[in-house]
Amino acid sequence: DRLIQPQVLVQDEVIDRAMRPKMLDEYTGQDDTRAQLKVFIQAALNRKEALDHMLIFGPPGLGKTTLAMIVANEMGVNIKSTSGPVLEKAGDLAALLTNLEEGDVLFIDEIHRLSPVVEEILYPALEDYQLDIMIGEGPAARSIKLDLPPFTLVGATTRAGALTSPLRARFGIPLRLEFYNVKDLTTIVTRSAKVMDLAIAPEGAVEIARRSRGTPRIANRLLRRVRDYAEVKHDGVVTKEVAEQALDLLDVDLEGFDYLDRKLLLAIIDKFMGGPVGLDNLAAAIGEDRDTIEDVLEPFLIQQGFIQRTPRGRIATARAYQHFNIIQPV
Ligand code: ADP
Repeated sequence: DRLIQPQVLVQDEVIDRAMRPKMLDEYTGQDDTRAQLKVFIQAALNRKEALDHMLIFGPPGLGKTTLAMIVANEMGVNIKSTSGPVLEKAGDLAALLTNLEEGDVLFIDEIHRLSPVVEEILYPALEDYQLDIMIGEGPAARSIKLDLPPFTLVGATTRAGALTSPLRARFGIPLRLEFYNVKDLTTIVTRSAKVMDLAIAPEGAVEIARRSRGTPRIANRLLRRVRDYAEVKHDGVVTKEVAEQALDLLDVDLEGFDYLDRKLLLAIIDKFMGGPVGLDNLAAAIGEDRDTIEDVLEPFLIQQGFIQRTPRGRIATARAYQHFNIIQPV
């Protein structure tokens, strides 16, 4: 496991829950998304209707699950959570749907990984609040229709492109989460330190924010590791120097990169002469699978301008060469 991987690590579960903002006003950053959502929620509350189905795009750790929970809290309803790969059979989804109460939120993480049979069941449920399933097999099989209460599906996906278009068309509210800037991450780190009852200097919070790859989950994880270091090696206070020392020791560099980011960038630079290189070749060169590269490694490197995605493959930018003090061939 990488310390800076954006997906949940086992060590995160407790802290993720403790740090999770509960209401929209505590949700830092993502200003456009928050502003839109505020209006939609207020309108639905005024009309006493379920909120429209909502699809949240964004890399792991940016707050998709958190936002789904906030929606339920703001609407004053229950939330049931599941994920695309967990729903194997039509019956798995039917069981969840028939347990919903009026206005409830059903949260499906990784919704791009729903199986086609489950997706089929979902369409009439989303459109007409109707459940249409086959029970039994062979000659005894029959189809039954059930009315469902109005509910809100909140789908989350790391891949905007991977959703089938009929499914995508059924969401009234599409939201896209962006990587957080250093200012917002500093606010998140400061708030989390307060929850943890940890003394932190403002510059210490900035230092952690800077190396958190625009991702709140990573910021909170780094904060905990820095706290350990501050307690064992110093007097427990997270100053700028303490944060720097701890993060250097943890091999998280000034850009928030670790060995794997460096390996990927150096592979493009050294093995493929700066690119362009196709995803499969790159995956083989660094021994990672293509999904990890596409979903986890690349988005931040692209957003920060270290690599570019072109029709012919990935290219290392001038910024990538500068990072390693390597002269870019012309
Ligand atoms: P995702 O579902 O996108 O992988 P989560 O919603 O689980 O991400 O967020 C991971 C953690 O990051 C949360 O537990 C929470 O502590 C923190 N977090 C996410 N978004 C925010 C935010 N906007 N403000 C404060 N903390 C956040």
